[in-house]
Amino acid sequence: VAVAGVAWIASAVIAQGAPPRPLLTEAQARDILARTTEVRLSPELSGLSAAERDALDLLLRAGRVLHGLYELSNHRDAGRMRQLIPDTTRGPGRGRQHRDRALLYRLFRGPIATTLENRRLPIVPVDTIMPGRNVYPWGVAKEEIERYLEATPGARPRLLHPRTVVRRATAEALRADLALLGRHPALRVLHPALETDLRARLRRPEAGSFYAVPYALAFADSLMLVTTLLQSAADRIEGGDADFAGYLRHRARDLLANDYEAGDAAWVTGRFDRLNAQLGAYETYDDELYGVKAFHGASILLRDTARSERLRRAIGGLQDFENSLPQATHKRVRDEISVGIYDVIADFGEARGTNTASILPNENATVRRYGRTILMRRNILLHPVLVAESRRTWSAVVHPDHHADFDPEGGFQRTLWHEIGHYLGPDQDRSGRALDLALEEESGTFEEMKADLVALYVARELRRRGYYDDRGLRGVYASGIGRVLLKNRPRRDQVYGTMQLMQINWYLDRGLLEYDAGRRRLRIRFDRYHEVVAALLREILAIQGAGDRAAAERFIARWARWDDRHEALAEAMREQETSRFRLVRYAVLGE
Ligand SMILES: [Zn+2]
Repeated sequence: VAVAGVAWIASAVIAQGAPPRPLLTEAQARDILARTTEVRLSPELSGLSAAERDALDLLLRAGRVLHGLYELSNHRDAGRMRQLIPDTTRGPGRGRQHRDRALLYRLFRGPIATTLENRRLPIVPVDTIMPGRNVYPWGVAKEEIERYLEATPGARPRLLHPRTVVRRATAEALRADLALLGRHPALRVLHPALETDLRARLRRPEAGSFYAVPYALAFADSLMLVTTLLQSAADRIEGGDADFAGYLRHRARDLLANDYEAGDAAWVTGRFDRLNAQLGAYETYDDELYGVKAFHGASILLRDTARSERLRRAIGGLQDFENSLPQATHKRVRDEISVGIYDVIADFGEARGTNTASILPNENATVRRYGRTILMRRNILLHPVLVAESRRTWSAVVHPDHHADFDPEGGFQRTLWHEIGHYLGPDQDRSGRALDLALEEESGTFEEMKADLVALYVARELRRRGYYDDRGLRGVYASGIGRVLLKNRPRRDQVYGTMQLMQINWYLDRGLLEYDAGRRRLRIRFDRYHEVVAALLREILAIQGAGDRAAAERFIARWARWDDRHEALAEAMREQETSRFRLVRYAVLGE
C-alpha cells in the first residue's frame, strides 16, 4: 500500500467513465503546466561501490522496461503513443506544443490529462482510457464479465487474480498466446497446465466467453528481459550484499513463475546494505473495473543505513504498544518488523509519483507468513517543494498561534508510525474472519483510520520514553491535524478522504479542534489531544473487532458529513495553493 502525499491524486480520479470527448486544448495544456511544479530527486550516490553502481545501472534498465509494461497495461495504443509523444530528454524537441505534450504525458503517466476542472481529456488523438485499461478486453463492460462469472463461477479466481490479463476466448487470441508460449519454453516448465488449457479452449473458441493468462505469458518478452537484468545485477552485487542478490534472483524467477512468494519472503526478511528495490506488480489503483489487477512498477531506493538501524532499535518492543491499545484483547505481534529510511533514486511505472511511504506486500497469505516491509521515502517526505506546499495549507487554516507548530520531521514520524500502526490492532474479527471479508469495502476506511490514530495514540508513550522531545511531540500532533485538512469534498468511495473527514469531525465534536467561523480558522487544544484520539481509536478498534459491517456503515454515515465549515476551510486552502500537480524528475536518469 502506498501513501499518497498530495491531495490531487484523490481529485484526479473523480471524473471517469465518461464518453469519448475532444482533445485537450493548447490553452488547457498551458493552464495545467502553469500549476505544475517540478520535484527533482538527486540523492548522493558517491558512497556506492563500483559493484553497486553497476547493479544500480542494471536495475534502472529493468525499471525502464517495467515502465513500458505499465504504459502498455494502461492503454492498448501505448506503442503508437510513444511515436506521437516526443522524448524531450533526448533533445530540444520540436517547439512548444511538442514539449508541452511530452510534459503532460510524463505528468499523467499516459495520454489522458486531468484538467484544473477535474475533467479527463486525451492529449493526443487516441482512444479514451477504459476502466479495465488494457488488462481486460479493451472497453469491456463489467456486466459482461459478471454475466460470464455467474455462469462460470469456477473462472473467478483466475479472471480476478491480481496478475493475470483477461481476454476474450477468440481463436485469434488463443493462437497468439500459444505462439508466445512456443517462443518461451521456460514458461512451459513453470506453467505446466497452460498449454493444455489454451489448446482445449482453441477447439471451442467463443467470443462471448473469457479466459485469463498470467502476466508471465502476456508480457513474456518484457519480463524475460527484466529477469535477465535482475540476474545480472545479482551477479554484480553478490560479493558485497548477498541478501540483496538473493532477493533479486528470487524476484527474477517470480516474474516468470507469476508467483511472488519467494521474492517477497527474501525481500521482507533480508538484511540489505545500501540498495533496495521494489520490483514488479503490487498496487491495484489503476484497475477501475474491479480494482484487483496489480500494475507494474519499480522503485530503486538508497538506504540510509545508520538512521535505519537506529530506527530499527527504537521500535523494538512493539508488543508493549499493542498491549496499550484501548481494547480488551491483544494479539501477539512480531518482535521485529522490516523498516528502512530511503532516498528515492528513481521510480518507474505504477510506483512513479510523490508517494511518501509504502508498506508491502499486500497479499494476505504472504503477509501472514513473512510480514511486510516499510519503505520510508525520505527525499519525498522532506522535499522542500512539497513541504512548502503543506506549510501553506497549514498556515491558511490554523490560528496564527499554531503556525510555528508545523514541522516536517513531525510529518515524517507520523507517517512512519502510521505504517507501524498497520501492524497493531485486530487483523481479524472475533469470529476469525479477515477484516476485508468482514467489513468488505468499508475495511480500508477503518484500517487506514486505525493506522492514523495509532500513530497519534502512541506518541505520548514515545515522548515518555524520550523518543520524542516536547517539540517532536508537538510536531507529530500538528501533523495529525494537517493530515485531515481537505481541499476537496471526498467521494464516499475514497478511503483516505472519507476517514480524514471523519477524524476532523470527531475532533471538532470533542473539542480537540475549535472552529472560528469569522476568521475561517482552526484552533487546536493540544491538552485534549491524547484523550480525544484515544476515544476515537477505541470506537474504531471495537468496530473492527466485532467485524460488524452495519455498524461500520452507520459510523461512517454519522461522521463523514461535509458541511459549511469544511467548505470554507477548503476554499481558504485552495486560495493559498500555488501548484496542484507535481512532475517528478530523477537526476540519475539524466533529468
Ligand atoms: Zn496506511
